[in-house]
Amino acid sequence: MDYPCRRQKISNLLVELELSAILFSKPEQLRYLCGFTGSDGALIVSSTEMIFLTDSRYTMQAREQVVADRVEEYKVKGDSIITQLKTYAPTKIGFEAELAFGTAQDLQQRGDESWQWVALGKQLDSLRLSKEPDEVSAVSVATQANFEAFTEIRNMIQPGVSERAVALALEFALKQRGAEEKAFDFIVASGYRGAMPHGVASERIIEQGDLVTIDFGCRFRGYHSDETVTLAVGAVSDELRNIFDIVLEAHDRALAAVVPGIALIELDRIAREHIDLAGYGQYFGHGLGHGVGLEVHEAPVVSPRSRLTAEEGMIFTIEPGIYLPDVGGVRIEDMVLVTSDGSKILTKIPKTFCNVLVN
Ligand code: ZN
Ligand code: ZN
Repeated sequence: MDYPCRRQKISNLLVELELSAILFSKPEQLRYLCGFTGSDGALIVSSTEMIFLTDSRYTMQAREQVVADRVEEYKVKGDSIITQLKTYAPTKIGFEAELAFGTAQDLQQRGDESWQWVALGKQLDSLRLSKEPDEVSAVSVATQANFEAFTEIRNMIQPGVSERAVALALEFALKQRGAEEKAFDFIVASGYRGAMPHGVASERIIEQGDLVTIDFGCRFRGYHSDETVTLAVGAVSDELRNIFDIVLEAHDRALAAVVPGIALIELDRIAREHIDLAGYGQYFGHGLGHGVGLEVHEAPVVSPRSRLTAEEGMIFTIEPGIYLPDVGGVRIEDMVLVTSDGSKILTKIPKTFCNVLVN
């Protein structure tokens, strides 16, 4: 991981935003900037120094892992942050906009009245937009685990099996392959439940004629996979087969259009237009995709609100869907890496129509 390059990005931000220092505390940001994998700490970056602060539970770990000028142990986090900041006689201090409101307020009260605190949102999102080769390879390990785990459990997706049993088997198969953790609570949505884009696996028993949407992923070395497969169990209705084909075509068209320089809003439009023209526009209510990395949902967003264009090194999902209330639904999701001259699909499970009772 290229820590000097990441530190340089922060130095540039300090100059650009005329900040004396930036305070980081989000675990994913700590991991990105200084390599710390624990769950609690703080990093202060000024133009001259990078200091990592943590409590006694993590001091040993931090001294081994952290790439910073100093590691300090604290008893009370807020006190320690303020003490360190005072040494810079700061004027403007940046902090993560996601910092809990109460925590931000507490810091402002403890600090000098003259300090100006600036919440940083988009400016920090952009730090991790473009992935380094090491990050791409960590994501690829996670997508390979997805492929192997899914291949292993695929044959258990049968009438009579509960959604929850499928989710558990997948999680077990992923962890057997070394996954640190599941990326989120898996969605296994069968039959009419497929109409719920976020239908977390329930006790529902899978039946003949169902489409089953399985959205799952895992984490390796901090990096995530996120992938959705929709399968048919036995013969499905013409309507379900039709929406499957529409979603797959929307997915394929958007994926084929991924090249450096294309507006992300345009990728969303390509998929959305296909679904619209087929008459199902009102049943595709979410954005087309999102960035994936140290967080399973991170910048950039790929939606009608996107402002960015695809750049080499970005990793994001393409995941169109159609959700018909009381009938069922389809979502198909792959992760794609923007390369210097095109793109590379990182997820490996084939997405063509698959009937688990026939194939
Ligand atoms: Zn997903
Ligand atoms: Zn996703």
